[in-house]
Amino acid sequence: MATMRELTPGRVVFVPAGCALLRRPFALYLSAAAPAESPDLAGMVWMQGQLLRADGSAPRRYRIRTTIAPADRLRVEGATMRRCMVATCPAAFDVLALMTGQADAPGWLQTSGVLGGCYVCPTHAPTMTDGQQVFHRPAALHPGEVTCSCGALCVATGSTRGACIVAYGAHLHDVHPARRRTTKGTIDVTPV
Ligand SMILES: [Zn+2]
Ligand SMILES: [Zn+2]
Repeated sequence: MATMRELTPGRVVFVPAGCALLRRPFALYLSAAAPAESPDLAGMVWMQGQLLRADGSAPRRYRIRTTIAPADRLRVEGATMRRCMVATCPAAFDVLALMTGQADAPGWLQTSGVLGGCYVCPTHAPTMTDGQQVFHRPAALHPGEVTCSCGALCVATGSTRGACIVAYGAHLHDVHPARRRTTKGTIDVTPV
């Protein structure tokens, strides 16, 4: 059972088989959620986010999905898990274990500024900065869009901050040098 208070942007929600429009089980990296408004849909929740596999890992292809499902069938990932904001990246760590000294998270980057408080994993952190020079940083935020310091405009599927985080995560995925090009052409894999 998930409560509306738990369904906040950035959380991962697990949707079991047969309770949403998609029959198979899946998970969502939430960008927005709201109780369904129609009286026939009492107890249902509308959700939008990045589509993940049933185990919460990210598929190679990045897709946004909107769905409606009964709140009492949903399960939300532990509130202390923090995921890499880069689209399709499965990296995560437990912030509580970090704070209590039971784990460390070397190489993780926490964003500051207009999209502050998001996390980027050690693999993707060099895409943003090499420690001296900043290559990509969220520079300006307007409802539904984020401008990167490289000049790219990242247009979100909604006006919430969560939707902007998802859109910026897709941009970081696109500019990550190790990304395999899916369009016709050479596969460009550069170590970072
Ligand atoms: Zn990552
Ligand atoms: Zn950029």
